[in-house]
Amino acid sequence: MTSTSELKYKRILLKVSGEVLMGDQGFGIDMKTVQAVAEEIAEVARTGVELCLVIGGGNIFRGLSKAAAGMERSSADYMGMLATVMNALAMQNALEQLGIDTRVQSAIQMNAVCEPFIRRRAIRHLEKGRVVIFAAGTGAPYFTTDTAAALRAAEMDCDALFKGTSVDGVYSADPKKDKSAQRYDSLNYMDVLSRDLKVMDASAVSLMRENDIPIVVFSIRTEGELDKVIHGGGTHTVISN
Ligand code: UDP
Repeated sequence: MTSTSELKYKRILLKVSGEVLMGDQGFGIDMKTVQAVAEEIAEVARTGVELCLVIGGGNIFRGLSKAAAGMERSSADYMGMLATVMNALAMQNALEQLGIDTRVQSAIQMNAVCEPFIRRRAIRHLEKGRVVIFAAGTGAPYFTTDTAAALRAAEMDCDALFKGTSVDGVYSADPKKDKSAQRYDSLNYMDVLSRDLKVMDASAVSLMRENDIPIVVFSIRTEGELDKVIHGGGTHTVISN
């Protein structure tokens, strides 16, 4: 365990794709995988890092793919946002089983299930050591949870936006398909945007660039990695100015 004074980042927002939660089953929520990710998060929460979470919904429902299949885009997107609420509740449950206090705040009001998003209240939760999980994305269709993560990271005055993926950083091509793909230790925002590197949506990257908040890309599937990266170690790519 490391003291907070050694922390490189004191308050972060961690974005986890919905796909990370489906494990090997190819769809939905695999509770074993949720528990494994929750353990990674709990480890850093215990060191005193103030943690915000945004979880995607792609393991359950993606608006764009249903819109392509003939559904009205806005309705499909609202369904996608509801999927993120299910993931948020699964993660809340897994974290609380590990003894971590959490609150879920949703951009779409769902008072019987979780709190509405109230920025000042969320900050207070963080100060009290609770992990705050932001659900329902931005609350608006035509956005993604990457953009929601960037928006909340800026609103919550986070030191960095962490993107937990299944690989250990940003590569020149998909390392699972192209053996010659090169990994970067650092990049600037414009590199990511102009070369269309698949890290986060362009709108999320632009928002982080305008607000000078670094994006840290690392593998959430590697045990202990989140804790290492938060303390400035581990393998990761930093995107900054
Ligand atoms: N979504 C939306 N507005 C938001 C965030 C999400 O409409 O602010 C919808 C959108 O349909 C998206 C779905 O929710 O496809 C799930 O989110 P996302 O695809 O970002 O999840 P991830 O890829 O991270 O699992």
